[in-house]
Amino acid sequence: MRQIAIYGKGGIGKSTTTQNLTAALATMGNNILLVGCDPKADSTRMLLGGLNQKTVLDTLRSEGDEGVNLDVVVQPGFGNIKCVESGGPEPGVGCAGRGIITSIGLLENLGAYTEDLDYVFYDVLGDVVCGGFAMPIREGKAKEIYIVASGELMAIYAANNICKGLAKFAKGGARLGGIICNSRNVDGERELLEAFAKKLGSQLIHFVPRDNIVQRAEINRKTVIDFDPESNQAKEYLTLANNVQNNTKLVVPTPLPMEELEAMMVEFGIVEL
Ligand code: ATP
Ligand code: MG
Repeated sequence: MRQIAIYGKGGIGKSTTTQNLTAALATMGNNILLVGCDPKADSTRMLLGGLNQKTVLDTLRSEGDEGVNLDVVVQPGFGNIKCVESGGPEPGVGCAGRGIITSIGLLENLGAYTEDLDYVFYDVLGDVVCGGFAMPIREGKAKEIYIVASGELMAIYAANNICKGLAKFAKGGARLGGIICNSRNVDGERELLEAFAKKLGSQLIHFVPRDNIVQRAEINRKTVIDFDPESNQAKEYLTLANNVQNNTKLVVPTPLPMEELEAMMVEFGIVEL
């Protein structure tokens, strides 16, 4: 069983990429559990054809410990992907990071991590500033990390910070599998991300183009894999899935000092001084 966590700057496309990637892996015959670790609970929407109303933490609050069982919180989605949303605390109350720790603990106790799973994916919010969001890597649950980024400075800055967190938790066994570029159509984007990944000691695992078919699928509450499997974008997600499936390059990343990061942006012509 490979346990994979997807990180990246807010809004970069983690949930979209994770759902299309898992959908592609499912069509390739894999048995997958996807755990959404975002209080927004939108990590499985396109696999379930709508938002999962029964998050682990909601159920825990309304039904108590006994009410939380796998039939309630695990829902089969596209390609029989087992979909879970950890959910969050009541807005304005409590710690979302702690909520993730609680729900993953509950899932383990309930036996959600069965032997027959090929993959467990975690779609994690944020830039690993909070211990709770770092939990899947800190506790050595997910040993394989992919970071979604683009050619925009703040996306790369966030990716670099995530690598700092990763390097810190390397003892637990967490390794970087690569950078996924979710394109923002920035000039020289592919070259920049290839260079950045290389400096980290890692690789660009795939360059996912920006395409409006993603929005069309999203409004239909579907992944592109489900909505239009013959489309070019679906093929891109299948290539990403193949690259992940065959990936053996797992490293402890070497994050860049800020000056080097900025120098690299200038070198690739993204930022002019
Ligand atoms: P958050 O940090 O809030 O959880 P996120 O990183 O999960 O955000 P998404 O919700 O996946 O980001 O993506 C944000 C928006 O970007 C989505 O509404 C989606 O339509 C769009 N998007 C993502 N990837 C692509 C793409 N390759 N082409 C076009 N649109 C995209
Ligand atoms: Mg998301």
